[in-house]
Amino acid sequence: MDFDFTPEQLELKERAHKAGMAWRGRHTSWDRDDASPYREVTESMREAGLLGLTIPTEYGGKGGTALDYVIVVEELFRSSQSWILGEPPFCTTGPGPSMVLLAEQEETRRKFLPDIVNGLKGCAIALTEPDHGSDLTDLETTAVLDGDDYIVTGSKRFITGSPENEIYAVFARFDDIPGAKGVGCILVEKGTPGLDLEPGAQFVGSRGLPHGEVHMHECRVPRINLIRGAGGFSDLMTAFNMERLHNSIYSLAFAEAAYDETVRYCEERKSFGRPIIEFQATYHSLVDMHVAIEAHRLLTYKAAVTAIDSRFPRPLDSTVSKLSGATMLPNLTQQGVLLHGGDGATLDFPIQRLHRDAIAAMVAGGSPPVLRNAIAAQLFPGHRFRQHA
Ligand SMILES: Cc1cc2nc3c(=O)[nH]c(=O)nc-3n(C[C@H](O)[C@H](O)[C@H](O)COP(=O)(O)OP(=O)(O)OC[C@H]3O[C@@H](n4cnc5c(N)ncnc54)[C@H](O)[C@@H]3O)c2cc1C
Repeated sequence: MDFDFTPEQLELKERAHKAGMAWRGRHTSWDRDDASPYREVTESMREAGLLGLTIPTEYGGKGGTALDYVIVVEELFRSSQSWILGEPPFCTTGPGPSMVLLAEQEETRRKFLPDIVNGLKGCAIALTEPDHGSDLTDLETTAVLDGDDYIVTGSKRFITGSPENEIYAVFARFDDIPGAKGVGCILVEKGTPGLDLEPGAQFVGSRGLPHGEVHMHECRVPRINLIRGAGGFSDLMTAFNMERLHNSIYSLAFAEAAYDETVRYCEERKSFGRPIIEFQATYHSLVDMHVAIEAHRLLTYKAAVTAIDSRFPRPLDSTVSKLSGATMLPNLTQQGVLLHGGDGATLDFPIQRLHRDAIAAMVAGGSPPVLRNAIAAQLFPGHRFRQHA
């Protein structure tokens, strides 16, 4: 097993580092105002060649691997300390574009992927509904065939990048079939009559771009926009594992940023005439943070390296690494807040923002109990883990 990056991977990391550093320091106002120049950020990522990383070259993508994705997104997050920098790679490489790769028809891939990988159209994923989150397979949004079109009706919430993105990979119920068997996915484009995009609730963390609402009232969507209809749910989940990998990278990089900030503070802050880093209780905490980050890094890289076709992370590896990150990060940022003393409770130091960002990361892509359910189902296939009453 080789833990060293290749020269090409090191070059990619360096490029992502430069691209992230170019926006360093902007996170404070993006967080405060809950707004960012998202288009400009996307343009700068396009210029740095960081879009469409795992999408095959025949559709204009970079033809890279899930590990390339980890290298780029980790470096962007850590250097910029802002989740916004990860959004352009996510919307041009992550679960939405990966689902487009699974479309039933080649025409669908040809219609959407070139604009997506160029950053002209971002693709968000819209699964969560006001009444259905963890119980996704009970969702109520419907897609009904009418001639050559589908009529899509329903509401989604917490959709990252809505209303900024142009394409929404909407999970809907097809053919009135109940449960997972009826769940498929269709692309709804901005500008479709009946589609209403709203900013939605204010979040405590991962601010700067809305996690908005997507309302669809009898949207007429051409058949070519269909990714998978009824029966396609488990295939769609293979693309959704890019979401879990992304969340795992988020936890890794924000833990690294929290560690960086905490070490800096502990080296500068003095107590009893000494830098507080020289007290055993302090350096033991920092060592524990380092060990937690290293362990999570291995799980994240493993989930990327073991991806099917180097592109679709495996369900068990990606869920394990997402669960590890979602539980590690808030504990680690809380330790960081504590080591900042009273300063940790103010808005004057980056650690409080990273702690709020950690709260956002816990549930996005699936809450820890639900991830444990999914992992148990894979570890113990001989047993049933039905959640319905
Ligand atoms: C920052 C952020 C970004 C997001 N981005 C997107 C996005 O782009 N697209 C999208 O579709 N969604 C997005 N989401 C939504 C996210 O996927 C959901 O919030 C998540 O799946 C949980 O659903 P819920 O909020 O409805 O909670 P619920 O499902 O109502 O869960 C509430 C609580 O009940 C627990 N619970 C529920 N069922 C079980 C069970 N069977 N066993 C044990 N405990 C259970 C949960 O663990 C949780 O603690 C985002 C969320 C956040 C916070």
